Amino acid sequence: LFSELHMANGVVIRQVNRSTVLNLIRQEGSLSRADVKRKTGLTFSTVSSSIADLIDDGLLREWGQGASNGGRRPTLVSLNPTGRYVLGCELQAASLRVGLFDLTGSMLACVEHEERPATPDAVVQQIAAGVFHVLDRSGVSLEQVEGMGVAAPGPLSPNSGILRTPPNLPGWRDVPLKRMLELALDLPVLVEKDGNAAALGEAWLGAGQHARSLVFIIVDTGIGSGILLNGQLHRGRNDGAGEIGHTTVDLDGPACRCGGYGCLEAMASGLALSRKAAAAVRRGVDSCLSDGIVTDESSGVPTLLRAAAAGDGLANDLLDECGRFIGIAIANVVNMYNPELIVLGGRLALHHPQVVERACELGRRRAFPTLAQSVSVVPSTLGDAFLMKGAASLVLQRIFGPTQQ
Ligand SMILES: [Zn+2]
Repeated sequence: LFSELHMANGVVIRQVNRSTVLNLIRQEGSLSRADVKRKTGLTFSTVSSSIADLIDDGLLREWGQGASNGGRRPTLVSLNPTGRYVLGCELQAASLRVGLFDLTGSMLACVEHEERPATPDAVVQQIAAGVFHVLDRSGVSLEQVEGMGVAAPGPLSPNSGILRTPPNLPGWRDVPLKRMLELALDLPVLVEKDGNAAALGEAWLGAGQHARSLVFIIVDTGIGSGILLNGQLHRGRNDGAGEIGHTTVDLDGPACRCGGYGCLEAMASGLALSRKAAAAVRRGVDSCLSDGIVTDESSGVPTLLRAAAAGDGLANDLLDECGRFIGIAIANVVNMYNPELIVLGGRLALHHPQVVERACELGRRRAFPTLAQSVSVVPSTLGDAFLMKGAASLVLQRIFGPTQQ
């Protein structure tokens, strides 16, 4: 028994060392074996054997030579970007995107559908077709792909990959998306709530690469968030943490699709703003927006943004109000979690800079001053594809293990 325990420990220790070496090289670029030894405190033979394993696996490669320290110039080791590939899939109320990425998170190819089919079977078929399309276009074979991550609307169970009853996917109930995709693609699939995927993506590939604690707030047709504490997703007892869109911000506010009243999402989301715009136009407010704006969920946000950019007063007032509500959300997040970084993403945040400006300004003013001083609030650096990149980072995290910071 003792020797078995000893062996099991040996395997775990080897994996931890391997992950430590791999993450160091991922974060620092090219390093010599001596650099790795110095920076990790591991023995030279452990460093050598870990690097040999990782080169065998195709994750690292020998790449150029470093400066001489008097003797022979040392061989440098770096990440092998094309040693493996990962897929990221964004499944949303209106849209569907599939992208192929290398190990550094660079996107090789992507397909986007502005509309998605209604049934789970048809969606799985469309995702599979998208996967084969991006592989074909990049000349990558399925065998070179480590797996696919999917960012989907909650509530869902990340372990089983079952979508429960997502309000954004009407008619879907207990859909085993992970199993369906694994059968269709013969590939490991990881499914995660969109807000969580966004937070992880920003930590791996975006503005949060040096942050230990960050909260990502999505401001789009709906409002959601993902919380990363000490480098780990905070999922909560039922994998439901981060439902910031359903925190009450107006005691007597309008009904929300969650069954509550005056939720942040019912007051400040793209859908809520479209409703407010329609009501204002019906009241006779002068605007280029029409009272029919509310009828189409997917085009409401772009219509508002276009109107605001063209100088429409009503659209700009509504987006200003959205920024103020997001500011309150930021203040609450700062007081609750005291995070290092808050990232704003989604079309309303990324395409109308005043939303972020207003939100930052009010958020800082309304949070505890000492906490507000130490938090950064920034727009996502991953652009409109932040969910697809977040989905891909689910698999990157599987390959590299927990980040070592
Ligand atoms: Zn709600």
